[in-house]
Amino acid sequence: MKPIGYIDKNFKKLIKDLQLLIQQPSVSAKNEGIEECAKLVKKTLEKSGIRSEILRLGKNIAPLVYGEVKSKSNPNKTLLLYNHYDVQPAEPFDLWEYPPFSGKVNGNKIFGRGSSDDKGELITRIKSVEAFLRTTGDVPCNIKFVIEGEEETGSEHIEKYLKKYRKKFSCDGVIWEFGYIDSKDTPVVGLGMKGLLYVDLFAQESNKDAHSSMAVLIKNPAWRLIQAIATLRDNNGKVLIKDWYKEVRLLTKFETRLVKSEPFDEKSFQREYGIKDFVGGKKGFTAKKALVAEPTCNVAGFVSGYTGDGAKTVLPGKALAKIDFRLVPEMDPKKQVSRLKNHLKSNGFSDLKIKVYQGEAAARTDPKDPFVSIVKDSADQVFGKSTLNVSNAGTGPMYLFKTILKSPCISIGSTHIFSRIHSPNEFARLDLLKKTTKCMCKIIEKFGMS
Ligand SMILES: [Zn+2]
Repeated sequence: MKPIGYIDKNFKKLIKDLQLLIQQPSVSAKNEGIEECAKLVKKTLEKSGIRSEILRLGKNIAPLVYGEVKSKSNPNKTLLLYNHYDVQPAEPFDLWEYPPFSGKVNGNKIFGRGSSDDKGELITRIKSVEAFLRTTGDVPCNIKFVIEGEEETGSEHIEKYLKKYRKKFSCDGVIWEFGYIDSKDTPVVGLGMKGLLYVDLFAQESNKDAHSSMAVLIKNPAWRLIQAIATLRDNNGKVLIKDWYKEVRLLTKFETRLVKSEPFDEKSFQREYGIKDFVGGKKGFTAKKALVAEPTCNVAGFVSGYTGDGAKTVLPGKALAKIDFRLVPEMDPKKQVSRLKNHLKSNGFSDLKIKVYQGEAAARTDPKDPFVSIVKDSADQVFGKSTLNVSNAGTGPMYLFKTILKSPCISIGSTHIFSRIHSPNEFARLDLLKKTTKCMCKIIEKFGMS
């Protein structure tokens, strides 16, 4: 039997193992079931013939599950598969049609928290390796699994793990933890992620809230913060902080061509969100280019004064704004923080306090890297066609993998674009899980031959 045939024949077992993973809650935000799930993942790897161990950095840090299979026929080439076993909280529970940790199968769908993100993706990787081991007794290249437990809370310790185990994790290519399937069932081969800078801006005036009649005398920190925020960005989305774009690497001609050829259904996107137009009147290519290659400055939250029902005439003592900035290659989060601070200072807002939560650089794999055509050809063979995406509009720790392991990273997977990840009724489609497992087989095979 060939590996692909093995996947068809043993697909029920894949679903059963995915159900077991879903049934073990592993909510990193609440430290619920993390230890148990790490052990279950280790067991799942071992059941498939993959040697596994649990790596630890210390107390209160989620363990990382490592897996490895050495190739007898081709020991000099290594593919690393990065995934995570933790999930988002399942709340609100009452909006779930089936219990969130049931793994209930209905028709072509399996429901549950983690069914797509990321236990579904993980099982496709594990089973593709199992298919080779059971049918050929070998794998076409060395395989390494790095499965972390803090992805959904921002991958706080992945950098430490990567640095500590740099040698153990050494590889020639990384398959990212997820990959999208678009609304036309075409897989998206993703070559990058944007970076992220997340800050709180905080204004305080009086030591307590006051009667709003005092507004003639007491300055309002909400006004102060609004005025400061208004200096950060213009109406077209351009960030107005000095030198903000200084290191931004422009798209190459080839990348521009790829962006132009990416499908993007503007009208149905706008319908989905109930909006009439895009920021700055972007259309067609400029909208697609913005998703791939433009930095952002977004007000994620603003809290001050009274926000309940009815009227309360209050003059707040303090105000808080939460701001996120998406970054693109080669912006350095540390430099951007000091530019933001300088901006506030030189605009007369040095009284505002700033708290930096997260600074993560963007990463992109060169579309001309030979690894890209290996993944793209595999996806084309199994799905009929695929789309190359220069960069996802979201953020993940890809930069760390790229720079610490010095390997190209590509995302490909089974996650349908409307599979409600992070929301109630998350599901994975069975046909896509099967196809993606086969696609992983093709990737491993071609990678071994390259
Ligand atoms: Zn997620």
